[in-house]
Amino acid sequence: MRILLVEDETSIANFIREGLEEEGFAIDVANNGKTGLQMAIDNLAEYDVVLLDWMLPGLNGIEICRAIRKESKEIPVIFLTAKDTTDDAVFGLEAGANDYIRKPFAFEELLARIRVLMRNKQGEGSVFRCGTIELNVESHRVTKKGKTVELTQKEFSLLEFLMRNKGKVSRRTRIIEKVWDIHFDYDNSVIDVYINFLRKKLDEPGSTSFIETIRGVGYRINDEE
Ligand code: CA
Repeated sequence: MRILLVEDETSIANFIREGLEEEGFAIDVANNGKTGLQMAIDNLAEYDVVLLDWMLPGLNGIEICRAIRKESKEIPVIFLTAKDTTDDAVFGLEAGANDYIRKPFAFEELLARIRVLMRNKQGEGSVFRCGTIELNVESHRVTKKGKTVELTQKEFSLLEFLMRNKGKVSRRTRIIEKVWDIHFDYDNSVIDVYINFLRKKLDEPGSTSFIETIRGVGYRINDEE
């Protein structure tokens, strides 16, 4: 799942980026308002959440939020703000933000808020199943027949994306957009490598893979009970 962070303070931006990468998110960072808005508008369909600092050089967070809302009503926006009066919070929400978090904050709190918004947006629970394989987004855990299977962050993100789209074909371009960040160089054969890792770890030996290859298009997980 992919997140845009617009934050001008490098130390805060790095703290958030590293934390979210550890949780398996793909994250793009903009360090000023204008770049942030441009990245948001250019890739709006790819972002699952936008994290907006309030005070930014160029455009401020309120202006960016209003501009994003003209393009999309759905995309969740969270304000990161040092402002701490009730009026400021209301102002942020009226500009179209879904939530706000006051600096300084604990990373766990930010993560929890992101997950709540993603869950609301997708109208889904946080547990996905395919046969005997279960992926729990909240606990960041994958099990097969009840036993934990160790996955890397990218393997987890890829599996999560396929699971969320169970029964539908996940196109290669969509997988790259959602699982890899903007710095990725678009050699999308990396997808096949990671699909093979998942198959090795999760397939039932001797039977058809739980991930179906749709040649030239992408991959699909089918809802087999
Ligand atoms: Ca700032």
